[in-house]
Amino acid sequence: MSAHAAPFRMVFALLAGLAAGAILIPGAQAQRFNKVIIDPGHGGLDGGSKWYGVTEKNLTLDLAKRIKKILDDKGIPTVLTRETDVYVELVERAEMANSSKDTLFVSVHFNAHRDRSVTGIETFYYPGSEQGRVLGSYIQSELSRRIATRNRGVKPNRLKVLEATKGTAVLVECGFISNRWEAQRSASAWFRQILAEEIAQGIMRYR
Ligand SMILES: [Zn+2]
Repeated sequence: MSAHAAPFRMVFALLAGLAAGAILIPGAQAQRFNKVIIDPGHGGLDGGSKWYGVTEKNLTLDLAKRIKKILDDKGIPTVLTRETDVYVELVERAEMANSSKDTLFVSVHFNAHRDRSVTGIETFYYPGSEQGRVLGSYIQSELSRRIATRNRGVKPNRLKVLEATKGTAVLVECGFISNRWEAQRSASAWFRQILAEEIAQGIMRYR
């Protein structure tokens, strides 16, 4: 989950945001959000956790693209904070959510622990953010309904990327790749598709 400072910034992430911003669906219902910013954790120089040949930054990017596809098909405008294997600063990721009104920010990560027996899915929101807690609860309950692992719950956490995001924001830790079983299934496309469907379902419940 930790991120390192990089000596450069990526402008393309901003361009991606502009390109995907203005989709309007005729007849769409009133929403409590206009756009979902999906944030694949890590990228580029920052690989995130690496276990059993599985690298977090690759899992998060694939998962984020799957979530985007599902929401796009439902007519919900989405933006990815990165679309390729590049490093994007945490504040820059948050800024993509802060630059327009009524956005949701959903960051996806995979966890690791030195104790390889640790497993489970958990969702974080910034302390005091009631909307973050509600969104996090929806996502976490969808995930725990369908995925057999330990439900580690919805918890407040002073994570930098959540602190920098002004609107509703959550960070989902989709399992521990330091656990062989969770690493193996996280490396499978079918499993990431289930994660994507449940996270998208949680987001849609928030409407
Ligand atoms: Zn991470």
